[in-house]
Amino acid sequence: MIARVIVDVPSRATDRPFDYAIPDAMAGWVEVGSRVGVPFGGRVLQGFVVGIAPFAEVDARKLKPVAELLDHLPPLSPDLVELGQWIAEKYCCPLTTALQAMIPSALKGKADSVVRLSEDAAAEPDGLFVAEEEPWLRYLRQQGGEARLALLQERFPEAAASVKAAIGRGTLEERVSIRDRLAVRKVLTVYPSEDADAVRAELANASARAAKQREAAQYMLEHAEPIPLAALAQALATTTGTIRGAEAKGWLAIRETEQRRDPYAGRGFGKTAPLRLTEGQQAVYDELAKAVDDASPRVFLLHGVTGSGKTEVYLQAIERCLKDDRQAIVLVPEIALTPQMVERFKGRFGDAVAVLHSRLSSGERYDEWRKIREGRAEVAVGARSAVFAPFKRIGLIIIDEEHESSYKQEESPKYHARDVAVRRANQHGAVVVLGSATPSLESFVAATASRGGLETAGEGAAAKRGASLLPMPDRVAGRPLPKVHVVDMRDELKDGNRSMFSRQLHEGLLRRLERGEQSVLLLNRRGYSTFVMCRSCGYTAQCPHCDISLTYHQKSRALRCHYCGHAEQEPKACPSCESEHIRFFGTGTQRVEEELAKLFPGIRVIRMDVDTTTEKGSHEKWLTQFGNREADVLLGTQMVAKGLDFPYVTLVGVIAADTSLHLPDFRAAEKTFQLLTQVAGRAGRHELPGEVIVQTYNPEHYAIVSARHHDYASFVREELKHRRFMAYPPFCRLILVTLSHEQLALVIGEGEKLAGALRDLARAAGIRGSDEGDGSRFMDVLGPVASPIPRMKDRYRFQCMLKYRGNVGAADLLQQAIAQLAGTNGQPPVTMSVDVDPQMIL
Ligand code: ADP
Ligand code: ZN
Ligand code: ZN
Repeated sequence: MIARVIVDVPSRATDRPFDYAIPDAMAGWVEVGSRVGVPFGGRVLQGFVVGIAPFAEVDARKLKPVAELLDHLPPLSPDLVELGQWIAEKYCCPLTTALQAMIPSALKGKADSVVRLSEDAAAEPDGLFVAEEEPWLRYLRQQGGEARLALLQERFPEAAASVKAAIGRGTLEERVSIRDRLAVRKVLTVYPSEDADAVRAELANASARAAKQREAAQYMLEHAEPIPLAALAQALATTTGTIRGAEAKGWLAIRETEQRRDPYAGRGFGKTAPLRLTEGQQAVYDELAKAVDDASPRVFLLHGVTGSGKTEVYLQAIERCLKDDRQAIVLVPEIALTPQMVERFKGRFGDAVAVLHSRLSSGERYDEWRKIREGRAEVAVGARSAVFAPFKRIGLIIIDEEHESSYKQEESPKYHARDVAVRRANQHGAVVVLGSATPSLESFVAATASRGGLETAGEGAAAKRGASLLPMPDRVAGRPLPKVHVVDMRDELKDGNRSMFSRQLHEGLLRRLERGEQSVLLLNRRGYSTFVMCRSCGYTAQCPHCDISLTYHQKSRALRCHYCGHAEQEPKACPSCESEHIRFFGTGTQRVEEELAKLFPGIRVIRMDVDTTTEKGSHEKWLTQFGNREADVLLGTQMVAKGLDFPYVTLVGVIAADTSLHLPDFRAAEKTFQLLTQVAGRAGRHELPGEVIVQTYNPEHYAIVSARHHDYASFVREELKHRRFMAYPPFCRLILVTLSHEQLALVIGEGEKLAGALRDLARAAGIRGSDEGDGSRFMDVLGPVASPIPRMKDRYRFQCMLKYRGNVGAADLLQQAIAQLAGTNGQPPVTMSVDVDPQMIL
């Protein structure tokens, strides 16, 4: 048989399977999904088997053999390989990049050369050594004739040439193998003897001298549980040598076993029982249970307000799925994957839960992944990439907070976990549940399209199978949603308050301090973007063509549109009210922290942002401290908005709602509404009622008005009007291509060529622009324009945007256009990075 192998070189030229013969010794072991080492261009590379074919199809004698099989259990299953092919096609990336994204980083092996003395050379008498070869030849003999090439070169730096010559002559044999970055951790473990009676008898007669050895044997008889050697030595205050002595006598056994790193070991999760569902929960659960039992792929959008008890519904639906002997995947946004969240799943399903997220060490993540691969886990809870959890029979995939942009991976493969989940569910006959208090417009439209007759781009995840909408409009136990006050910061300025805290927020914080309650303060500042705003009237500079905020570029003192390239001079006075209080905007969390300390002496503040949470475990540490009421205020970026549940939080303050409202992104209003709703949901989740204060210069903006009234429906109505008018998703789809190179002229030139090629291809395929025809099927090619970050790491960046609707095969046309630009080496002269369905246009 032959193996079709995708080698791990992520380039266009190598993005196809290469054939290798399967040696007899590996027959039956090499499968689709196996990881192998194969000779390629004079090296040995890691690769994945994507197909097995009989000899007859190719002239197998010409083929090189597979050099090694790297795992006895293939890390990928055939369905994951197929999923990888789908990802590579949809997101325009090399197949190896898609496959690599599915396995833990510990398995991304690197090639390693080992040299071995040939039998002849090993038998040769010492006297015959050539002078320059002598030192390393002696060394090799000491090492039993074999050593890693890198080690040899390190120890004998001057020997490089003579080693190479020896390899050429055949004195040394070189063997290349792939080494994993990380090995399974082995420990010595003590086991009780299998013949306990015999040991008892012997102990009774043993001499008094071996007291400690007897004690060890006695201990193992009594406890009968394996225990690590080191732990036993410690428990008995003796040495491992003594215990080995007992082993020599046959009183106990010592074996090497694999130690598994369990990041949650010793946390002692209390077992929880299913709660009695409320009427609203029950109705949703019944629908889900029916679908899970049917085992045919379905997508549901669970639209439940914050605190409506979505998690309990997830838990019971999972239970149903497990009863049917199928497995479940739960995706949670990375920053919401708090110990609190993990506890809810571990508490219900115990050891059957594997947890996958990026704050684990790569060893921990590998062990959790193997727990799934080897069938020791039934529920995977994790961030985005947990959608690839290698389960055999998936019954349910839950995506909590489905609107979160972190479900989109921003590096290649730039996949969206929501779309991948729907595809995976189709393979397994599984049910997908998208849960959110503020569903993305894409999902909401897809779930209501069949009923409301909204015509959209119609290719979204939820649209595939016509998602069904499941509403949960009420909080559990009739708890009210918190009251949201909107403070107009223009009034504060008029009344002479130039502080970043309005009088109402100041007052609110003071009252919480007096009562010993807690507050959460959100400052939604992200990235490098700044926008220009008038402090007197709230005017913000907008692009005349694109209906989004212009970005201030400090260097050129100009305002620029990141979509169409429109640019204008920085205004000296407000074009709307002529005030001179017009300036670009931005306040950091650090400044807020200083201000708090000044205004409220002695206040205890925990600041959570990217700067304070880089260290492993810091995120957990802060939240635990806050949960223990060791601080009065939790201050942070969107990190503080997600999924937290603290009973003493009765005030949530949003310092400047406008920072996210004016990001140059067509999703700015949606993001703001979602964020305000989420953060407001942190208040008053328990007995104490909650209050929310939102500070803004745009109190009449529909995103803020809707958030204030907890009115998702009115927000969506207004937002969809804008999206339809401007032809933005979900009324069209986008593909962003970023070109980059050190030479500016080359980037622009290639950008023009790409746009031209795309326009020609579209015309040839009979695809019209949005301004022709009825607009149900079109493709526009925008650009090239300078990227929002026009130079990065000394490379110039330009971008083209494809805006299309209907089945136009845009990804395919793009691949063809890029191929036209490619030179003889298969690569275009500039780097092209493709982002399908981009979430961030910044
Ligand atoms: P969501 O995920 O929708 O924001 P949660 O699942 O966190 O809501 O539920 C909010 C609170 O209500 C939690 O403290 C949870 O334990 C509680 N809860 C959920 N369902 C029930 C129920 N059926 N009976 C009693 N309490 C419930
Ligand atoms: Zn514009
Ligand atoms: Zn103004």
